[in-house]
Amino acid sequence: MSRTFEPDPARLSLNSATLRDQWTLAELIEACARHDIGAISPWRDKLDELGVARAAAMIRAHELTVTGLCRGGVFPAADAAGRRAAIDDNRRAIDDAAAIGARCLILIAGGLPPGSRDLVGARAMVRDGLAEILGHARSAGVPLALEPLHPMYCADRACVNTLDQALDLCDEIDPDGRVPDRSGHAPKAALGVAVDAYHVWWDPNHPAAIRRAGAHRLLGFHLCDWLVPTTDLLLDRGMMGDGVIDLPALREHVYGAGYDGFDEVEILSTRWWAVDGDEVVRTVKTRHLRCT
Ligand code: ZN
Repeated sequence: MSRTFEPDPARLSLNSATLRDQWTLAELIEACARHDIGAISPWRDKLDELGVARAAAMIRAHELTVTGLCRGGVFPAADAAGRRAAIDDNRRAIDDAAAIGARCLILIAGGLPPGSRDLVGARAMVRDGLAEILGHARSAGVPLALEPLHPMYCADRACVNTLDQALDLCDEIDPDGRVPDRSGHAPKAALGVAVDAYHVWWDPNHPAAIRRAGAHRLLGFHLCDWLVPTTDLLLDRGMMGDGVIDLPALREHVYGAGYDGFDEVEILSTRWWAVDGDEVVRTVKTRHLRCT
């Protein structure tokens, strides 16, 4: 495939999970200044640790773009009280995302409730949960980015596993909804998708699904790599260039479909968590340019 879209260092975003064990959110924000990185995406545990108000002030002071807040969703539960708790938690996440100026709230579906074999029912709970929080997201001006996860997580983390499955939900729940985008870019759908290389690369239909999503539903682009062998299903994601994903081809699909956001590097890896944080960031910057 010939290249039209080159990686742009000014469009690099660091997801806090990449440096989960090395740095607090405050340290990550300071590291971005040190390494000339203009965007971050925090996980909620790091945000809670720093405090939303302090985080928002630090992010403003450093003029950082927040490409997303990770993460909400996880709707299926064994009973009505559990489902209600998930909705309440998602409302809080939407408010926190608005407070730090996040361009979207990343959602994962959630898996089967403990002991359940009712996958159809779990997926219905995801649909109902999304529908219930959408109004709150719209009024807060926070687009919801549903991130399909690799099917190996279907039971325990996410029963939405392909971009098309996620887009079917978007089309059903938010057929033509828009939210104002405070960044000055084109308005985004209230409900869209995040494309994570780790989760979509295997799917033969992902190029068509990315085109189907189009600019207004493409809310996030997450980068890492798939190692062979992968020694842990959750915490052995690879640095870009160390695995088997054709990341430049994926970039062509995503940007070719009109995506106008950032390249967010999200590497959950016990190997990289054992490396000095500044060394990880230097490697991320080099590999972003060379391997994506
Ligand atoms: Zn992701």
